[in-house]
Amino acid sequence: GRTPLIAGNWKMNLDHLQAVAFVQKLHWALKDAKHEDGTVEVAVFPPFTDIRTVQTLIDADKIPFSLGGQDLSAQDSGAYTGEISGAFLKKLDCGYVIIGHSERRQYHAESDEVVASKVQAALRHDLAPVICVGETLEQREESGPTAVSVAQLRTAVEGVPAGADIVVAYEPVWAIGTGEVASPGQAQEVCAALRAVIAEKMGEDAAARTRVLYGGSVKSANIASFMREPDVDGALVGGASLLVDEFAAIIRFQK
Ligand code: 13P
Repeated sequence: GRTPLIAGNWKMNLDHLQAVAFVQKLHWALKDAKHEDGTVEVAVFPPFTDIRTVQTLIDADKIPFSLGGQDLSAQDSGAYTGEISGAFLKKLDCGYVIIGHSERRQYHAESDEVVASKVQAALRHDLAPVICVGETLEQREESGPTAVSVAQLRTAVEGVPAGADIVVAYEPVWAIGTGEVASPGQAQEVCAALRAVIAEKMGEDAAARTRVLYGGSVKSANIASFMREPDVDGALVGGASLLVDEFAAIIRFQK
């Protein structure tokens, strides 16, 4: 089976000093939790300026968290002021990078084509892209629950080889930071459609192996209901990933 992935997207929160305190507390809160034996994978996605510090800490204290960036450049190096290369993330032991988060699509005008080129950049540097897709409420009303996410993912995985290691995150825009959580059935419906896109573009083996996450107002009180769904393999958590006890409780979910 697929190892559940609980991922904390810190967004623009916690400076590098706050990050140290947070990761230490979270690690302590998780003593004896399932992630210690690899039953659940925990990943944190700090701001770029924190990554070196968090890497040093998890390496020194042997903390079993995976690490990732919240974005990367579509380019590998050169005159791109303010951009971060996938090569730099890889050097800091990042295994993942979030691509196409709705906040980047919305505030930085990232198109499906930009997202696709960033997916290629991640794969060039041996980072697993966490490809985010999801519809606004208006789009859901207009074209139904799956059409937007399916179209976004089709473009993002165009030309991605069958053996590539990717993660997909379904994050309905109307459920992000709103407290308005999707129902488990709504999440399942879209996550199943996204798995079908992986099957179509990358083959059945890739579809069976690839983790599809739900994101949007995930909390300790609702995580188990999502994890019960057959096509939901974990969660991409925003606000609740900044609260030690709450995030630890999400990681300790019971089906
Ligand atoms: P919230 O968990 O704060 O709704 O954010 C979800 C999200 O955008 C994670 O990437």
